Amino acid sequence: MSAYDDDNIFAKILRGEIPCHKVYEDDVALAFMDVMPQGEGHTLVIPKKSKARNVLEMEPDELAALMPRVQKVAKAAKAAFGADGVMLIQYNEPAAGQTVFHPHFHVIPRFADVPLKPHSGKMADGELLKAHAAKIVAAL
Ligand code: 5GP
Repeated sequence: MSAYDDDNIFAKILRGEIPCHKVYEDDVALAFMDVMPQGEGHTLVIPKKSKARNVLEMEPDELAALMPRVQKVAKAAKAAFGADGVMLIQYNEPAAGQTVFHPHFHVIPRFADVPLKPHSGKMADGELLKAHAAKIVAAL
């Protein structure tokens, strides 16, 4: 098991050193728009206090506290975009596709017959992400 890197990008977002388009925050979790969305409304939900690198390393209690927040954001994201479904994804370790080593759940609204964009897509327009965040906030 490698050590948690305090300089990972999500740790920087949590410390306010890097901006994000925030959707939801409480004492346990922060949710914000993925800057390279794989679909409209792609949101990330992360634990605020974790020093785990991924879900496998989280304390069960920590994970149990996070999941209702993931569900809350997933429901809001699906409703906000009138999606047909919503995907919850998370990757553990590089071989599984993990690129940021702070636990996170991807929340991706899905529409019938609209394929998912690649995991490493291009950076989305900031104004669009801001508008999408506002839509999800309104649906929470
Ligand atoms: P992973 O591959 O670790 O499951 O996903 C990391 C996610 O973080 C990717 O979907 C990527 O687009 C997103 N991401 C990487 N850097 C940033 C950033 O600086 N801000 C935001 N909002 N998302 C990021």
